Amino acid sequence: MPELKCGVVTCVHNYKNYCELDSIEVVGSSAQVSEQTSCGSFVERKGEQYGNTTKDEVSAMSDIKCQAVECKYNEERKCYAGKISVMGTDANRTEETECATFKKES
Ligand code: SF4
Repeated sequence: MPELKCGVVTCVHNYKNYCELDSIEVVGSSAQVSEQTSCGSFVERKGEQYGNTTKDEVSAMSDIKCQAVECKYNEERKCYAGKISVMGTDANRTEETECATFKKES
């Protein structure tokens, strides 16, 4: 289970640059570069809304299902990287996010 750092502060699930979800899905089945991947679990934050404000601690670890099968860390649509970064600071839509750790299998 990778450590998931997330810079998408416009997402309702983002809490201090971590993701409150125990499991996310990265999409982009034909991605050749990180820009062609996206976080399929992104939900735009409206106002001061938080997904789960009662959580004191958000786990750094998340189970990551991933459709980006060309990535070297992908094995049977799961991510086996030690740590990943999801990026997209001003994202309003899933397509504006990306898995910055994507690395094409050589
Ligand atoms: S590092 Fe690769 S396998 Fe892991 S979530 Fe990102 S794109 Fe998917």
